[in-house]
This record gives sequence, C-alpha cells and structure tokens, in this order.
Amino acid sequence: MRTDFMIATTGVFGMPIAENPSGVMCEAGYASVGLNWRYQLFEVKPENLGEALKGVKSMGFKGLNLTIPHKIAAIPYMDELSESAKVIGAVNTVIITEDGRLIGENTDGKGFVLGMENNGVDLKGKRIVILGAGGAARAISVECAFAGCAGITVVARREAPGTELCALIREKTDSEADYLPWTPGIKLPACDILINATNIGLYPDTNKPDIDYESITEGMVVQDIIPNPADTPFLREAKKHGAAVFDGMGMLVNQGALGVKLWSGKEPSREAMKKALEAL
Ligand code: NDP
Repeated sequence: MRTDFMIATTGVFGMPIAENPSGVMCEAGYASVGLNWRYQLFEVKPENLGEALKGVKSMGFKGLNLTIPHKIAAIPYMDELSESAKVIGAVNTVIITEDGRLIGENTDGKGFVLGMENNGVDLKGKRIVILGAGGAARAISVECAFAGCAGITVVARREAPGTELCALIREKTDSEADYLPWTPGIKLPACDILINATNIGLYPDTNKPDIDYESITEGMVVQDIIPNPADTPFLREAKKHGAAVFDGMGMLVNQGALGVKLWSGKEPSREAMKKALEAL
C-alpha cells in the first residue's frame, strides 16, 4: 500500500495575492532538490491573520511567507523573532518548528546581501545611497549595516520615514546614516553602491527615479529591486554611465532560495528558480 500521498504545504499570506509569482519560483526550487512540496497563495484579510496563523501551526505547514499587509501585523503572533526581523520590525518569512512554534525572519534584505556576495561585491566599508524609505529600503539598509557598510544615505520624498530609518540604523547598528530630502533631479552624494528601493519602474510603470544621472559614475554598483521587469529604465541609464548593474529578479530569487533553505534545509538551484520566473 502506498503511504506517500501526503504533500508538504508551504505558501504565502497576503492581500492582494493573485499576482504573486512566489509559488512558481519556490516549487521550481523544491523540484530542484527532489522535494514534491507545494507553495500556495492564500488571500488572508487583515482581521483573519491571527486565525490563519493558528491554522499554519495546527495543520503543520512546512513554511510560510508574509507579504503586504501582514509583514508588521504578524509580529505579535510570532513565538520568536530573528535579530533581523526584530530590528527591521517586519516578518516576511516564518519558520515553523516541529513542535509548532512560529519563528519570524526577514529575508528581504538578506536576499540583497547574498546577491552582492555572489557578485563579488564586499559590503564592508562601502558608502551606500538608497532611494526610498519603505519596507524594502528598511530591510536592505539594516542588512547592509549588519554586513559592515560604512554609511547609508537615505533619499526619500517624505521626511518622517527617511529620518526614522536613519535613526534606526544609527541606534541599532554600527553604521552611519543620514537623510537627504528627495528634490526633483537631485544630485546624489558620491557613493559605492546606489539602490532603487522605490516602486518606480514596477510594471506597468515605465518611469525611472527622478535623479541627476550624472551622479552615477564608472565603477559604481547599481541595484534595482524592481523584479518585474528586470531590465528597468533605471538600470539601463545606470549602465550607460558605466555602472555595474544588478536587477531585482536576481534579488527576488535569492530571497526565495533563502526561504526554501530555511524550511527544507536544502540548497535549491537558483538557476532553476530564475528560469521558472522568466518563463512566466
Ligand atoms: P513601500 O510601499 O513600503 O515603499 C515604497 C517606497 O517608495 C516609499 O519610500 C515611497 O515613498 C517610495 N516611492 C514610491 N513612488 C515614489 C516616487 N514616485 N518618488 C519617490 N519615492 C517614491 O514598498 P516596499 O518597500 O515594500 O516595496 C518597494 C518595491 O520593492 C516594490 O515594487 C516591490 O515589488 C519591490 N520589492 C522587491 C524585492 C525583491 O526581492 N526584488 C523585495 C521586496 C520588495 P512614499 O512613502 O513617499 O510614498
């Protein structure tokens, strides 16, 4: 008699969620290490988050991602938080232990750091300029600071999130941080790494951040976190100015691969995960 009909469940809670491609990417990752695991999208209303997380425990999910609007709201339901999730103040990945405890982790910024490492960029001592002060900017800045960067300039149009992020970096890490108000066509301070952590350029938007592109010089590293499309107008312009450019799809794959590894203990093929995304 067969006893292998049970298939492990992982997934993501969000709202809206239908356009989230994580399932395709993670299932390709599972297949690459011989796991017949599923990754389902669950549209969970904010008022149902607590009940849904109880379900994850009682039904023995193997792993869970959280996306908008649950990343911050989920914190009180976690039994434990990683250092990153604690400092960032948001959870995007939940590890579920054998005895049903929920451990909140944040891999948004870790995916960025892993990408830099894989591309041979050492963050130690680097000067970073980041555009935007939202959730992704927060996660990336904190991880860059943990990885030993020298300083971060946060360029954001609203002062409150910008100064709050800088205060957080100065308070919780050894990195310097300063806020620069985003004025149209702004000339950016000299830096080693420039990151677009805004929504600008996300499909169907075809704009690029309103900065002085002469600020980008030969040898700089420029990262866009926009995963779709991967080849953004921002990166195309940065390339014209001689920068080494890295796209948001690569970062998304790294982040997804970290989740697969945290849940299964196996290192998935990032190439297979990327191919699955590109085929969409
Ligand atoms: P948030 O809404 O938390 O933050 C968005 C930030 O972009 C805010 O600071 C916002 O400023 C700023 N912004 C948006 N439009 C403009 C504009 N026209 N001019 C100046 N600033 C602008 O979103 P997230 O940080 O969660 O996500 C941002 C993007 O990153 C999303 O597109 C998401 O898909 C992508 N992402 C990619 C990941 C990857 O692995 N590749 C991982 C996580 C996110 P304001 O507050 O003033 O509106």
